[in-house]
Amino acid sequence: KPALTKIGAQMSNLTGVRAIMKDINETLRASKGKELYNLSAGNPLILPEVEQLWRDCTADLLASSEYGEVVCRYGSSQGYAPLINTIVKDFNQRYGLNLTDRNILITAGSQTIYFYAANAFGGYTNDGDLKEIVLPLSPDYTGYGGVCLFPEALVAYKPTLDIDTAAHRFKYRPDFNQLSITENTGCVIFSRPCNPTGNVLTNDEVSKITDLAAPYNVPVLIDSAYAPPFPALNFTEMTPVFGENILHCMSLSKAGLPGERIGVAIGDEKLIQVLECFQTNVGIHSSRYGQAIASRAIESGTLANIAENVIRPFYQKKFDVLESTLEAAMPKNLPWFLHRGEGAIFGWLWLQDLPMTDWEFYQELKKVGVIVVPGSSFFPGLKEEWEHKHQCLRISLTGSDEEITIGMQRLAKVAERVYQVA
Ligand code: PLP
Repeated sequence: KPALTKIGAQMSNLTGVRAIMKDINETLRASKGKELYNLSAGNPLILPEVEQLWRDCTADLLASSEYGEVVCRYGSSQGYAPLINTIVKDFNQRYGLNLTDRNILITAGSQTIYFYAANAFGGYTNDGDLKEIVLPLSPDYTGYGGVCLFPEALVAYKPTLDIDTAAHRFKYRPDFNQLSITENTGCVIFSRPCNPTGNVLTNDEVSKITDLAAPYNVPVLIDSAYAPPFPALNFTEMTPVFGENILHCMSLSKAGLPGERIGVAIGDEKLIQVLECFQTNVGIHSSRYGQAIASRAIESGTLANIAENVIRPFYQKKFDVLESTLEAAMPKNLPWFLHRGEGAIFGWLWLQDLPMTDWEFYQELKKVGVIVVPGSSFFPGLKEEWEHKHQCLRISLTGSDEEITIGMQRLAKVAERVYQVA
């Protein structure tokens, strides 16, 4: 084994859901012949219309004189100019903004935006002060757990819960009595819509957070990997929020291009420049082939159109299947609560007073051929103990209707049994 530095040891750890994926993959491999209902995937499905769109854009690129310029040359770290200009035009028109090309950075996937920001704004200053990376509402995206070279910098806050007992539904809210953003804060990050919960923070909640950060010039990264205009995986009305200290971060991954690694950060020129230099040092730039086809899909309006008319309804229907199956199958007297399905590609189920941990419940589900993801991996940065952390499950909406239905019927039976035994 090579000798590792502190950072080397930190970065060679698998964090959050990646660690569990290993167990899931081994289960899948060992299950030869046995029918499994796998509702663990975070990978979006390949929808035929979406694949066709990217094929068409590729054909167009191949036939154009631009091809050699795109794939046979290095480019600027800020991104491929035609894509940047297309986004400027699209967003100015769509949202009435005054963006210029200096407000845009294209990155190798949006995960890298969070990595650059977490380490450019969070961690130790020259004076040795620790600048925190604040996650204002936990649970949130598991990938934030791995982005800090100094994990002690990551600080997440417990939410408050709006519970509708009769309807078996709940929703997380940021707890503004606890949330603290000060001169010790380096940046703030949250996903909207949220992976894993499907929560969409209201515009009012977003403004409250950005107002808390503004006096300290703290950048607020709004992870819009599931937001409109693409992939438009919001099932409730929502409008993106822009502002001086906001970095609006997008991803092409849930719109069919996860393999091409394209993220987009939109924000103040001074913030964009910091991240751009970071990117030059880390990996020079994102794939230009991916950027060139993305530019075509956005410019023609097809991507936004397919997002709204194909991608969103597809997953919204899956959520309906999940919801109606749980309603029919779950014992009425059990304290089960499904998070309001406001977006993204997951259902988030809270089993209050569950008489075992989420990990043990996950093992019980495996025994009946159902795989979901135990919820405790989605609380990166939350240092205090909280029993709720061990009472939740993430259920992927990428399963077929049949997989979701049978998976949830079996889950209901297991839940009934484990609560009864206790
Ligand atoms: N943010 C959220 C909320 C996600 O769910 C994901 C991927 O699942 C990412 C960021 C990272 O996406 P990418 O790096 O592919 O843009």
